[in-house]
Formats: sequence, C-alpha cells, structure tokens
Amino acid sequence: MLAKPTISDQAYDTLERELREIEAAHPELVTADSPTQRVGEKPSDAFPSFVHHVPMLSLDNTYNEEELREFETRIRKQVGDRPLDYMAELKIDGLSIALHYQDGQLVRGVTRGDGVRGDDVTPNVRAIRAVPLRLHGKHVPSQLEVRGEVYFPRSLFDALNREREKAGEELYANPRNTAAGTMKSLDARVVAERGLDVFLYSVAQVTGAAFPSQSRMLATLREWGFKTNPESRLCHGLDDVLAFLHEWQEKRESLEYDIDGVVVKVDDFALQRELGFTSKFPRWAIAYKYPARQATTVVEAIDVQVGRTGRLTPVAHLTPVLLAGSTVARATLHNEEEIARKDVRVGDSVVIEKGGDVIPKVVEVVLAKRPKASVAWTPPETCPVCGALAEKPEGEADRRCTNTSCPAQLEEALKHFARRDAMDVEGLGDTLATQMVQTGLVKDFADLYTLDYDQLLALLAPKNVKKESIAAKNLLAGIGKSKDRELKRLLFGLGIRFVGERAAMLLARHFRSLDAIQAATVDEIDAIYEIGPAVAASVRHWFDQEPNQTLVERLKAAGVRTEETGDAPASAAFQGLQFVLTGTLEGYTRDQAKAEIEARGGRVTSSVSKKTSFLVAGAEAGSKLDKATELGVAVLDEAAFREKLAEG
Ligand SMILES: [Zn+2]
Repeated sequence: MLAKPTISDQAYDTLERELREIEAAHPELVTADSPTQRVGEKPSDAFPSFVHHVPMLSLDNTYNEEELREFETRIRKQVGDRPLDYMAELKIDGLSIALHYQDGQLVRGVTRGDGVRGDDVTPNVRAIRAVPLRLHGKHVPSQLEVRGEVYFPRSLFDALNREREKAGEELYANPRNTAAGTMKSLDARVVAERGLDVFLYSVAQVTGAAFPSQSRMLATLREWGFKTNPESRLCHGLDDVLAFLHEWQEKRESLEYDIDGVVVKVDDFALQRELGFTSKFPRWAIAYKYPARQATTVVEAIDVQVGRTGRLTPVAHLTPVLLAGSTVARATLHNEEEIARKDVRVGDSVVIEKGGDVIPKVVEVVLAKRPKASVAWTPPETCPVCGALAEKPEGEADRRCTNTSCPAQLEEALKHFARRDAMDVEGLGDTLATQMVQTGLVKDFADLYTLDYDQLLALLAPKNVKKESIAAKNLLAGIGKSKDRELKRLLFGLGIRFVGERAAMLLARHFRSLDAIQAATVDEIDAIYEIGPAVAASVRHWFDQEPNQTLVERLKAAGVRTEETGDAPASAAFQGLQFVLTGTLEGYTRDQAKAEIEARGGRVTSSVSKKTSFLVAGAEAGSKLDKATELGVAVLDEAAFREKLAEG
C-alpha cells in the first residue's frame, strides 16, 4: 500500500536531523517545503476564519441494513438497472480538514468548522507529518482542495494519557476530542509532538486533473503523495458492501484509530452527478453507523472518588472484560441517585457501554442474574480520602466532603481562601496556590502561615534570582498581612458551605469570635436575623468536624486573628430594615454609608422594591428615586440619613 511509510520513523528522524544540520550551516538552502519547515518556531495569536469555497456537508446516516437497502432502492429509481459499484470506506472518528494546494504546494489548511466557515489552521496542518507539503508526480494539478480526517493514533493517545496519569493530571477523554483540541493549539509544535495523522478521501475542487470515479480519485491522491485509508474497498453491489460492514464491525478494534461506521459512496462520478443532492445531503452517499459497543460483566465493588470540589463520585470496579478492544475494569456511576435509580449493587451483572469516552458507563443491571443475598448500596457518610463527614444537601445529587482541608479539595479551597474578598493574601494567585498544594508545602490553610522565605523562593523557581527574591519577600509580607483580616473575611475564606460574604458578616458581628461561633448551638445561630436554618446547620456541621477544629486551633497558634477587635455593634436599631443607596453623598463614600447601616443591623440592597425601607438619595439621584416615589418608599436625603444614623 502506498499509504505505508516507505522508511521507518527512526530513519526519518535521522534524515531530518541531518537536514537540520545542513540547513543550519547553509540557510540559503532552506526551502518552504523543506520538512524542517513543518513546524514554525513561534506560536501564533489566533486563527483567522476561512469561508469554504465548497461547503463541507455532512452525510445522511443510518444505523440499520434495512435503511441501507432503501438507500439503494432510491438510487435504482433514478439510474435503472445499470451496474452499481460502491466505494466502501471506514468512517474515521476524527476531525474533518480541507487542504488547499497551489501548483503542487500546500498553501492552506482549514478545519470543517460549521461546514461553511472553518479555522485557518495552516501552521498546525503543516506540522502533521503525513500531510505532503509538496505534491509528487508529473501531472500535479494547478489548483486542488482535498479533504480528509485528522486523527490521534490510539497508541500515541494511550501513551499520552499514561504520562498524564503519572504526572497526576486529568486524563483526556477520547482521541477524537484530543485531536480536535490539539488542532486548535496555538503552538504547532504541540501538533508535531503529539503525532497526529491524517487520511484523505475526497476532492472538493481541482483544476488541471480529472477523475472518472471515487476509486480512481483515491488512487491518484496516493500518486500525489496523500495518505488514503488502506482498507477502502470497491464493492460490486450492496451485498459486497454488507460483507465489508460486518467484517469491520468485528475487526474495528484492531485498527490504530477509532471508526464509528462505514461511508458508502456510488463510485462512478457521472452517476453521482446524475443523482445530485437533496436539500441537505448528497443522494449518492450514506454513512452507516455502528451500534454502541456493549459488554456484560460483574460489579465486584463500588468505590468512591473525591473530586476537587469535594464531590464524591462512585465508581464501579468490574470483573475485567474486553470491550471495544481494551480491557475494562472500571465504569462511572456518576452519583448515588444514579445508583439508586438503576439499583446497581455489588455482585450484580451489568451491561456496560463505551461511547467516545475513556471511562465506560453502566447502562443497566441484568436483574435475572442478581445474587439472592445482594443488598442495596449505601453511600459512605465519611470522605474516603480524609475521613471527615460527607453530606448530601437536600435537593442536590452529589454528596460532598465537609472538610475544607481535605487533600482532595485543598487546591480549590486555598484559592478561595486567598481571594481578595476573603483573606486577600497579596501575591498568592491561583497558579501559586496550586503549586503550594501539589508540592505538599500546604496541607491546610494554617500551613500557609508556617512558610518561610526560603521555601517561597524555592517555590517561585528562581530563574531570575533577583526578581524572584523580591516576589518571595512580597509574598511573605502578603501572607503576614492577611493574618490581621477582619473575622468576617476569615469566616468567608474558610469556605463553609452556604456561608457567603453576607452570612459571614452577620455571624462575625453577632458572635465576634471564632470560639463563640464554635460554641454556639444550631438554634443560637439560627436565631440570628437573616441567618436561615440551612446556614446554621452547615456552620454547626463544619465546626463539629475534628479536622476543622484542629485547623481553627492551628490558625490561632499561627497568629491569625479570630476575634472581632473593633467596637461592639452600635445597636440593632436598623434590624429588619433594607436600605438602597443612590446618588452622591458628601459626607460618606458608598462603602462608609453601607458600613454605618450594617453596623446598626440594617441591610443594603442594590435595587428598589416594595421591601425597601428607605432610599438614601444623594446628589444627582436618578431612576431609583423615581422608582421609590412610585412605590411610596421613604426617601432620606443626606441630612435625614445623618439624623437617622444618630438615632441608632
Ligand atoms: Zn475529604
């Protein structure tokens, strides 16, 4: 087959290296189609879009043989009983691409996009080794647009995922999405590194060449140096096509790429023209899709994994079974409601299915095979990673770990803790927070306050020691400063479920210390105006967890402020009152006015409604004043507002 490389990859690499050396010594010899020019040195900014000269249409498709026979019946109606040959081609599960050549040189590569407009990804296309930069042969057309499918070879995809697993990175779901993502990379070197491959299968436009049929066209593409799929077969009649379908349905797992069916085309181009198009599809082609791949196996155990947001995900451990060419030993069960709905139990025989994704799913339980002694699965009440309580809030599908220092979720929690509206740790961004957790330097929030200058400098990877040492000093200062944040910020930063900024402020104002909150009963918390039972229960839960109690002690020991040091709240004079601020006040900024109101137990909201008690209107008050007048809401000018504050 011409599609096979004529030299080994290793030999190719050696030749390419020699060529690079020659070109480095003699830059005048470098040509645009030199293999060394496949990969540009610098990533580009973005891709220009490109309107396809001929739209990239999709094909009509079917999942059964009956419809395939109807496809032929429709053709027969138009062409009578002339002999019908079909080209049967494997349908590669990849990314459609259009390649443009001018006088035999590759000038452009465009993704399918929406079929009308795609991305011009020429640098990335050049980085695919199987794409010829220059066409071979004597009769090269002056203009050519050829189309095909870019794919991620399975063995390379598996190797990539193995590397990611080792590095503790999230696995890619499937070769198709990863190929598509790779083609969108702004750095063509990524495309080259990953080893994407391509099969070409159609000509959209050509000047200076002609073909009588699909089979002749494929042969010519090969002569020009294109890689076409070696399994394509010219079939004499529909029975031949069916034999091809069945053969590859059995053998599809032996391929180095994923296929999701077979494309059947009338081979003769004159007949194709005669048949033409419906409003949507060509009448001379159809895609036959293979059914989803399923297998039956036994659930040996149900395990629970903890995600970064603390979410618990149950996973079925299966008796290993061969499915879609790989051995499957795990399947996702999504969440406990899904398990309950399907009533999946340990010991059950289950049907599993592999879609495009790496991890298959459980479709259903084979109840006839259920062991007599089986019991329904009960979700764990504690986190399998840290042992803290795992709770499932009513109305939510997921169960979550309640420990904010849980190793499984610490990364996200630390980012939240350092946020500007929480502890405002200057210099501690998301990337650094991730590094701190991944290097094991920070195992809970309190660890942040134990880090010294040398540890921070090492973390900042001192490539430029001078610059990094300033960064390390600043970060150390930023961490130090954050110890003295107000109690409400600490409470918000801890990431207690349902405790947002407002609830944190109310709790801090009422209890005035972390110790007092820890000592409070649910009823005491619930009794605070505006704090609902869900928040109260969540706060109580959080402080009941031993890891969280330890955390509080360690934060205190590190010198983090856990008490409100300012004056006690002025009064509760404004309790139950809602204020809206509008216009400009002379004596107060917005924040100052808000603080004065909140210090008296009042609440500031952003828009005027029937619930609004007072509109505080400064100079140049606009539509809010109109709305308040319309609703009969009391309006305070600055003098009246000052008086009101004095009363409280
Ligand atoms: Zn946990």
